[in-house]
Amino acid sequence: MPDLAAIVADIAAEMADAPDRGTVAQYIPPLAAVDPKRFGIAIVTDDGREYVAGDGDMGFSIQSISKVFALTLALGAVGDQLWQRVGVEPSGTPFNSIVQLESEHGIPRNPFINAGAIVVTDILLGRGEPREAIGEMLRFVRTLAGDDAIYIDDAVARAELETGHRNIALAHYMRGFGNLNREVARVLGVYFHHCALTMSCRQLARAGRYLMDGGRNPETGHNVVSARRARRINALMLTCGHYDGSGEFAFRVGLPGKSGVGGGILAVAPGIASIAVWSPGLNERGNSQLGTLALERLVHRTGWSIFDPR
Ligand code: GLN
Repeated sequence: MPDLAAIVADIAAEMADAPDRGTVAQYIPPLAAVDPKRFGIAIVTDDGREYVAGDGDMGFSIQSISKVFALTLALGAVGDQLWQRVGVEPSGTPFNSIVQLESEHGIPRNPFINAGAIVVTDILLGRGEPREAIGEMLRFVRTLAGDDAIYIDDAVARAELETGHRNIALAHYMRGFGNLNREVARVLGVYFHHCALTMSCRQLARAGRYLMDGGRNPETGHNVVSARRARRINALMLTCGHYDGSGEFAFRVGLPGKSGVGGGILAVAPGIASIAVWSPGLNERGNSQLGTLALERLVHRTGWSIFDPR
């Protein structure tokens, strides 16, 4: 095993001086207020060791990274039937794009763009109340991370509701095609609360452990999902986890990863480590500028890309 304590400390020091930090998301007002100088990294290895540097214990809005946990829960609820309503192809379009929904009859390309996650949320809502679905998601993430301090930031959820015109349009459009069963306002209420989960890199890396470990949470020893399902979620993270930047992420980093507009990225080195990075400045595709660079350097120094020979 490489000297991970030294590697995370070096990367955090390098990122502190990085000149080009990208642009903090503006369209959700509380996110626009986050200090662009922040950078955090956390690695949890297969043997349970944790390596944290920079702002790795500071909470941030996980945003679209929640789509991974929502998909995992929804697959547990309805199984592979889910794939009748959501595709498994990269979209090549921005996270909030509507264009493909017209020719594809309201079936989103994949679960990691907004349209796909809104359908996944509709499934999670099932016949229940929004409050229950939000509570279920929060409990799930807390259990995955083994940390009851994880919370949902209501101010972020409210701000998203007030500014979420494109998500509202996506949801109505899909409901028009019959691919949304519950009322738009209820589905989006749950969706925005998932996106407003606040977690640190350490908490996020812990929550992702099941994806490095064949679906098993190493802390509890319980299977969160089957090995086959964990493999498929990783495949979707690699091909779709960064929207129209997924190819570039695979090219530069070569790990399954999911980004969020809050500047976080959860990445998985199967069998080796669960990794979270955070820096709020984004590149032009809405993915963390320094988060991507930090992962690129990590993989370069460890040989952890899934395309490196084992
Ligand atoms: N809550 C955000 C939205 O719906 C999530 C998008 C993202 O993280 N890319 O617009």
